[in-house]
Amino acid sequence: MNIAILSRSAGIYSTRRLIEAASARGHQVRVLDILHCDMVIASGQPSIHYRGAPLEPFDAVIPRIGSSITFFGTAVLRQFEMMGVYPANESVAISRSRDKLRALQLLSRKGIGLPLTAFANRPDDIDDLLARVGGPPVVIKLLEGTQGIGVVLAETRKAAESVIEAFLGLRANILLQEYIAEAGGADLRCLVVGDRVVAAMKRQAPEGEFRSNLHRGGSASIERISPEERATAVRAAQVMGLNIAGVDLLRSARGPLVMEVNSSPGLEGIEQATGKDIAEMIVAHVERHAVPHRTRTRGRG
Ligand code: ADP
Repeated sequence: MNIAILSRSAGIYSTRRLIEAASARGHQVRVLDILHCDMVIASGQPSIHYRGAPLEPFDAVIPRIGSSITFFGTAVLRQFEMMGVYPANESVAISRSRDKLRALQLLSRKGIGLPLTAFANRPDDIDDLLARVGGPPVVIKLLEGTQGIGVVLAETRKAAESVIEAFLGLRANILLQEYIAEAGGADLRCLVVGDRVVAAMKRQAPEGEFRSNLHRGGSASIERISPEERATAVRAAQVMGLNIAGVDLLRSARGPLVMEVNSSPGLEGIEQATGKDIAEMIVAHVERHAVPHRTRTRGRG
């Protein structure tokens, strides 16, 4: 097959691994820097030029769209979909999961376990809002944050009020979330490919920190997960419409709670923690499913 990987650079670990896996399985693979794709939207004749030249036809595209370029990246991916190229993850599914609030709303509609979460524009009554998410302590999150930046644990009412005021003063959108203390500063990253969890790792925050992100100094180890955790992760990916997803779960007293569903999960941490060849599983999934003009959503929200 002719496979395109949409990524900012061939040097990124995950991109490099996907190139290796696709080449090893006998495919032609080309990395396209999304920001150098331009699209002409003509009635019935969608096209993409890359660095000023027409693109050769592709059978499949594997998107690795960074969160800072979601808008343009999903537009380029949608254009590939319009041209009938099979996407490993569809543009609509990526957009759904990138909007943390929209993602939680969709998951809640399907009854998937979630930390209680509130969203307010200008809370009139902070005490009421805090009480409704079981706090303080509460977790306050910037809607646009990634890698744990903009995720704050407010242990007292006073702290919560100050943080909320500070964020709102900067005109940032924030979520208020129930603090799952029993997770003990750990979360589970479940890598879903198709309808299976193919690898899972536990990330543990360093002493004195509640955020377990590897970028925040968390440590990763292979972890056995329960059938309920497995089912929750697969279901969360399905609700988003993602074929490939990194589902983050918190272990709570009332069962697994989904924190986030990531549409471009990094492969480095999980391949190293589990020793599994996830890149190969992704390419194999694409091989099994790539059919032209067969995207489920065809760009519809
Ligand atoms: P980001 O998308 O920036 O990584 P997350 O929402 O995943 O932000 O939060 C970062 C980390 O903070 C999580 O990996 C988890 O360890 C911790 N965390 C987030 N929300 C909660 C919560 N409601 N209760 C307990 N810990 C949490």
